Amino acid sequence: MAAVRLAELLGSSASQAPMASREADDPGITLLGDEPHPPYNRILLSAVLEGTHSPDALTMRTPDHTELRLGTRVVEIHREEREVELADRSRVPYDRLVLATGSIPTLPPIRGLVRVDGRLHEKVHAFRTLADCQRLDAAISTGSINEGARNAVVVGGGLLGLQVARALSIRGVATEVVEGGEHLLRSQVGARAGAVLARDLERLGTTVYTGARAVRLDDRGLTLDNGYTLDTDLVVLTAGGRPSTALARRAGLDVRRGIVVDQHLRTSDDRIHAIGDCAQHGGQVTGFVPPAWEQAALLARHLSGEDVSYDGARTVARLRATDLDVAVLGEPEKAEGQVVEVSNPVTGSHRKLVVRGGVIVAATLVGDLSRIGLITQHYDRGTVLGPREPGDLLMGERPAGPVVLPDDAEVCACAGVSAGRIRACSSYEDVRTSTRATTGCGGCTAAVRELVTEGALT
Ligand SMILES: Cc1cc2nc3c(=O)[nH]c(=O)nc-3n(C[C@H](O)[C@H](O)[C@H](O)COP(=O)(O)OP(=O)(O)OC[C@H]3O[C@@H](n4cnc5c(N)ncnc54)[C@H](O)[C@@H]3O)c2cc1C
Repeated sequence: MAAVRLAELLGSSASQAPMASREADDPGITLLGDEPHPPYNRILLSAVLEGTHSPDALTMRTPDHTELRLGTRVVEIHREEREVELADRSRVPYDRLVLATGSIPTLPPIRGLVRVDGRLHEKVHAFRTLADCQRLDAAISTGSINEGARNAVVVGGGLLGLQVARALSIRGVATEVVEGGEHLLRSQVGARAGAVLARDLERLGTTVYTGARAVRLDDRGLTLDNGYTLDTDLVVLTAGGRPSTALARRAGLDVRRGIVVDQHLRTSDDRIHAIGDCAQHGGQVTGFVPPAWEQAALLARHLSGEDVSYDGARTVARLRATDLDVAVLGEPEKAEGQVVEVSNPVTGSHRKLVVRGGVIVAATLVGDLSRIGLITQHYDRGTVLGPREPGDLLMGERPAGPVVLPDDAEVCACAGVSAGRIRACSSYEDVRTSTRATTGCGGCTAAVRELVTEGALT
């Protein structure tokens, strides 16, 4: 997703900047990807599983000036020659190389997960690629599961696990979630928000086991370390991933958790950059679309000759799942400041702001996201709030009147699009094609539709 965004943005700057030194038929940018499908929006994989989107709807537009080579795995980087070597041993030269290799799912230590031939047990599914999604979909649809025994266990109660659990449940599969931590979404939210989410999921028909680790898979089912054995047809692994760094490591680049990059998203070789899930900047790896696209945008500007530098990603995480709404700004469990919190487990809503010196430095919203626009706006701008304002922002089920976003308020965190740019568009489709807003996590869709309508009325 980061690479396509970069190609797109380099294209738009290239159309303004001179590219005279290139031959007319030279695409300038080559995208090498090992998956067989054209680049797609990974966020919507659970929507494909759920059945609300077709796989085609996920395809991201590859810009004209880009040569796209699918099913092409890069196996080596030859830094001296400035060439990459492909699986078929052919080579592709580069002036600049950008690594956007993403992340790979980690296998939790469960006995019986991997068979003696090294392949995953036939009940076990990863959920990272379109191919994974189609395989899981086939397992649900083709009757490979006995009628009447359609059940699944999702291992990992993070954002991805909850998306998959909701999708399976909507498809009619009785789903259980196993999370080793004490509560759901433990990397993003606190115990109270996690408990509200668990209650929401239970209400939606999904059983949640927290503080329990899956330890063994065999004919009896999936056994947990608390002694329970869950009889299941499917085990879906969503217990985290790690940056895909093998290629960079073999090439001798500086790699720690991710591929280490500086303020120009440059690795330890100044001809090679890294962006997205595989990159590590200032000790941090990311794992979400907004920072991946923010890095792509900054690198496009840097490569086009602008004097810009990257000072770390704003963390914005949205859960995209039917009837389960979560938004997390910054790191609410780590940020220092005063905590203003409203929790209503009965209605399934939890809202928390961390405020330092009157400024919102982190936020968690579970359930009702009607205030997300306003809160994000204050968070982005570092607005200094009065003593009553944080509480007012959290109280009440809905904002008292229509919230008018100023033109410079960011509406789409994935593509970095402001309310003003959206108002300037002639239609919803125009917004999508000219700004790319709504094409990432989709969390801004309702706000964009409202702004477009508002624009049409003025
Ligand atoms: C199911 C799912 C749901 C998600 N939901 C959300 C969400 O709601 N919100 C959010 O912000 N984020 C979400 N994410 C995370 C988001 O998708 C990633 O942060 C984003 O895709 C990162 O972009 P990227 O370009 O770094 O990596 P990717 O999009 O993963 O692309 C990396 C590509 O590089 C290819 N590749 C790797 N090595 C090689 C090689 N040697 N040669 C050739 N090709 C190679 C990989 O096959 C892959 O196609 C989700 C992820 C998944 C899997």
